[in-house]
Amino acid sequence: MNCPKCSALMESVTVESMQVDRCTGCSGLWFDLREHEHLKSVRGAEEVDTGDPARGKQQDAARNVMCPKCKTRMISMVFPEQPHIHYEMCSVCSGVYLDAGEFADYKQMTLAERVKYALTPLMKR
Ligand SMILES: [Zn+2]
Ligand SMILES: [Zn+2]
Repeated sequence: MNCPKCSALMESVTVESMQVDRCTGCSGLWFDLREHEHLKSVRGAEEVDTGDPARGKQQDAARNVMCPKCKTRMISMVFPEQPHIHYEMCSVCSGVYLDAGEFADYKQMTLAERVKYALTPLMKR
């Protein structure tokens, strides 16, 4: 599979028994159906996002991104709770592409929530 943004080869990496594809060029990440949502709650999963966020930012502007699996034009989306993160989703296979640094950013929210939750007294839960 080749990266939908820079065309470099994507390599398969295993995170918590899930297979994620990472670009050997720009370090963008490919998640199959809802994998990113699952991994968001997995501690340490952000380590898969080894890329340079500055590079990811540059690539964020790319439009007309084609799904590397089914060659459909992907839709540009944002996470409702983190509207600063732009990602691409395929409406056919539901694969999701995140630029370098975006998955770590996406995950950070959960950590913040977890801290908030931990600080909430038990009686109020
Ligand atoms: Zn790439
Ligand atoms: Zn697709």
